[in-house]
Amino acid sequence: VPGSEVDVTVGLTEDDFRVLDAGDSLNCARDKFDLQDESIYLDGNSLGAMPRSAPARLAEIARDWRTDLNRGWTEHGWLDLPLTLGDKIAQLIGADPGEVVAGDSTSVNLFKLLGTALCLRPGRRTILTEDANFPSDLYIARGVERMTGGAARVKAVPRGDLADAIDDDTAILMLTQADFRTGHLHDMAALTRGAAEHGALTLWDLSHTAGVHPVDLNGCDVDLAVGCGYKYLNGGPGAPAYLFVARRHHDTLEQPLSGWLGHEQPFLFDTEYRPATGVARTICGTPSVFGLATLEAGVDILLEHDITEIHRKSTALTGMFIRLIDQECTADGFRIVTPRKDERRGSQVSIVHPDAERFIAGLADRGVVGDFRAPNILRFGFAPLYVRYTDVWEAVTQLKDVARA
Ligand SMILES: *Cc1c(COP(=O)(O)O)cnc(C)c1O
Repeated sequence: VPGSEVDVTVGLTEDDFRVLDAGDSLNCARDKFDLQDESIYLDGNSLGAMPRSAPARLAEIARDWRTDLNRGWTEHGWLDLPLTLGDKIAQLIGADPGEVVAGDSTSVNLFKLLGTALCLRPGRRTILTEDANFPSDLYIARGVERMTGGAARVKAVPRGDLADAIDDDTAILMLTQADFRTGHLHDMAALTRGAAEHGALTLWDLSHTAGVHPVDLNGCDVDLAVGCGYKYLNGGPGAPAYLFVARRHHDTLEQPLSGWLGHEQPFLFDTEYRPATGVARTICGTPSVFGLATLEAGVDILLEHDITEIHRKSTALTGMFIRLIDQECTADGFRIVTPRKDERRGSQVSIVHPDAERFIAGLADRGVVGDFRAPNILRFGFAPLYVRYTDVWEAVTQLKDVARA
C-alpha cells in the first residue's frame, strides 16, 4: 500500500503527500472528471463527481431523440441498455455477463430481490439483517413484512450477532457490505458461506463498495445483490441502480414487480405474463435512458483502470487520513469510528465529535466538502479516481483550524 513506507516515527509532512501524488499510478484519472482544481471533494460516496464525457453523452441522446424519435429504442440500443450496461457493471463486481441489470433505484431493486428470495425459499420466514443497515434497506424489508401480513418477518440484529442468528428459518441474509456511517466492511465470503450452510440465500448491497473495492460476487457464491449508481460509479444525480442474480437461480426466479419489459415478448402485448429468460425477467418498466447514459460514462472510466490499483489507493488515502488525524488532532476530542484494519475498512473515514455539524459547515466554507451524519459524525469519502493525497493533507489541516477557531 502506498504510504506504508513513510517513516511514522518522524511524523508526516506535506511533502510526504506530494511525493505520493507524484508516484500515484491513478493521477491521470482525475482529469476524466470535471472538477475545479482547488476543490477538495470528500463526498463522492454520496454523489460522485461528473465525468467529463457525461454532457456529450446526454447531448448525443437528445440529438438521437430529436432526429430518430421512437426508432431510437432499437437503432440506438436504448431498450437493451439495462442489459448491455449491466454486463459492464458485472465486470466491476465479479459477476458474469447476463447476471446484472441496470435500472430502477437501489430501494426498488431491493424490493424485487427480497420478493425473489422469499419465492426461492418457500416455508422460510426470516429476512435477517443488521440493525445498523442503511435505513432504506430496513424500511423496504419491513414493507415486505407488512405486505405479506407477517408471513415474512424481519430480524435485525447487531453486527456481532449476525453469524449466530442465521438458522433454518432464514430465507435471506440481507447486508450492506460497507456501513454507510462507519465504513465498517463485512467479510462477504464468510457470511455468505455461513448462510449457505443453513440453506439461506444472501443479498448484498454494494452501494459503498462497488467501484472502490474488488467485489467478487461469484467467487463468494453470493445469490443476489444490488447497488447504487451515483456514488463511486459516478453515474450522476439519481442515476439508475443495478441488481445481480446468480445464474443458478435464473430458471426459477420470480420477482414481484413483473412488468411488461420483463416479459418474454413484451411487444406481443399478451395479457398473460410469461417471464423472459435469464436476469431480464427482473426488468420492470421502460429504461431511463438519460440516466443510464451518464451511468455508462462513469462505469466506462472505472473499466479503464485496474480495480486492485483503485482499492490500493483507497486503502492508502484512508490510512494516511487516519494517521494524520492521530498526529494532528489528538487534542481536539475527535474519535475515529472507522476500523483501522485495512481489510475491515471501506473507502471512508468517519469521526465522532459533538460539534460535527458545525465543523462540516466550516470545512465547506473553506472548500473542503465532507458530510455530516446525525447526530455527531463527520464523514469523509475517498474516491481514488479523483481524490489526491495532498487533499488528505489539506483536509486535515483545515479541520484542525476549524476545530480550533
Ligand atoms: C445510497 C444507498 C442506497 C440508495 O437507495 P436509492 O433507492 O437509490 O435512493 C441504498 N442502500 C444503501 C446501502 C445506500 O448506501
